[in-house]
Amino acid sequence: MTTTFEGLRSALEDHETTLPERFLLDMGAGTREPERWFANLDPATGELLAEVATATPAEVSDAVGAAEAAAPAWAAAAPAQRGELLRRLGALVRREAETLARLEVRDTGKPLAQGRADIAAAARYFEYYGSIVEGLLGDSIPLGSASLAVVENVPHGVTGHIVPWNYPAQIAARSVGAALAMGNAAVVKPADEAPLVTLCYARLAREAGFPAGVFNVIPGGAETGTALITDDRVDHVSFTGSVATGRLVAGTVAGRGRPTLLELGGKSAHLVLEGADISRAAPVIARALLLHAGQTCTAGTRVIVHESLRAELLDALAPHFAGATLGPGLTEPTVGPVVSERQAERVRGFIDRAQADGAAIVAQAEPGGHAGGFFVPPVLFDAVSQSSELFAEEVFGPVLAVTAVSSDEEAREAAHNSRYGLTGAVWCQDVDRALAMARSLDVGQAYINGYAPGGGVELPFGGTRDSGYGREKGVAALREYSQARTLFVDIRG
Ligand code: NAD
Repeated sequence: MTTTFEGLRSALEDHETTLPERFLLDMGAGTREPERWFANLDPATGELLAEVATATPAEVSDAVGAAEAAAPAWAAAAPAQRGELLRRLGALVRREAETLARLEVRDTGKPLAQGRADIAAAARYFEYYGSIVEGLLGDSIPLGSASLAVVENVPHGVTGHIVPWNYPAQIAARSVGAALAMGNAAVVKPADEAPLVTLCYARLAREAGFPAGVFNVIPGGAETGTALITDDRVDHVSFTGSVATGRLVAGTVAGRGRPTLLELGGKSAHLVLEGADISRAAPVIARALLLHAGQTCTAGTRVIVHESLRAELLDALAPHFAGATLGPGLTEPTVGPVVSERQAERVRGFIDRAQADGAAIVAQAEPGGHAGGFFVPPVLFDAVSQSSELFAEEVFGPVLAVTAVSSDEEAREAAHNSRYGLTGAVWCQDVDRALAMARSLDVGQAYINGYAPGGGVELPFGGTRDSGYGREKGVAALREYSQARTLFVDIRG
């Protein structure tokens, strides 16, 4: 294991195929040789990127034990002390920004510009939570002079964090940043497809001076995740990933009477109403979808457009798809690979079935990328029927579905013709009309004439219906990772 980032930095800059170090378990107090290893592939080439530890149930138990032992002292520290360490961690992430960005790019496949944006957002999460936690005030409840009633925000204890492969650097930072700021000790399980930056965070947390056991990272897949969520000492679980796994996790955690936060993706819609400025909307819609080959839970994968604007919108969107370049993330393509061959097959299946369902391909990128990599050329579909699979299901690939409607009411109904409720956007220059539409959407975040700016660190984020419940990001996450404790004092006059 490299103790500084120098080995990693030069390997990444030299485009070495396999990274020079094996990534160990990181259990707060230090790293540990695992009992088992996992071959982590580079999605751009299909070749081995790194050998990564897979935590066995016994190793998960040890990590939870380390967190349990560390939690009381960490909770007792002043928010200013915890905040200082988190801000220091944010500064270390900035110090290593280029290495971490390249690592995230090799691990997930995304273009380098996006990798850099993700690391900048991750540093912000640590700094933001390290700052605002000091201002999270409790409450006092006026009951008259014969008593004092106050409400404090206290941590849950040990928090478990299950992170997916699409935005591991950002998702781990946002969730762990808020949990640690509130005084929880965290055990993080990144996805085995993309665990590397999260493991680096644990290393940087040690350098920042976090007490042993406060921040633990246990890579692995379903078996590791199961061991984490079934451990009685884990007091709260945050999960980001698929609906099926999320429900399984929430059911298991609820079975032992503990809360879960679920962020389960979406089928978010752009509603392009009469009066929309297409020259403003089209580049934002295309970019939100293409920035990580459609593997963004907020991707905005459906465009519901008024029929009078359909042709203009398709003309404006088509060049973004036809001209998209494919390649390894470090070569700055428009789109990188999807995360795995399994995911590529899944996406190709959606594309084939959409054509069979009668949707028309308006534009498609030329095949490209790198031999052995998991590349899927972006596709723009028109005439997507509201009863089709493509209109309802999350693809998690570079596929945009356009559907024309004839009124605002029809647009609203179409937007809700999906079981997801994560985000939505309304495009219309008439602000009254746009606001009325945005307010009527059953989603966790609704945007008007813009979409998901800069990672949205400050904006509470989460879904309704099948997109999950609970809120990450913003001040709302500090409430999520704490509970109210009421103190009552009876005063004898
Ligand atoms: P998944 O839900 O299976 O995996 C998400 C995380 O859960 C990973 O860390 C995984 O190791 C862990 N996990 C898996 N089984 C578990 C279990 N039984 N107990 C505890 N943890 C477990 O998702 P996936 O199979 O990697 O991807 C499938 C689909 O999920 C994608 O195609 C996409 O539609 C969706 N997805 C959504 C998001 C999102 O941000 N909402 C992210 C990734 C994937």
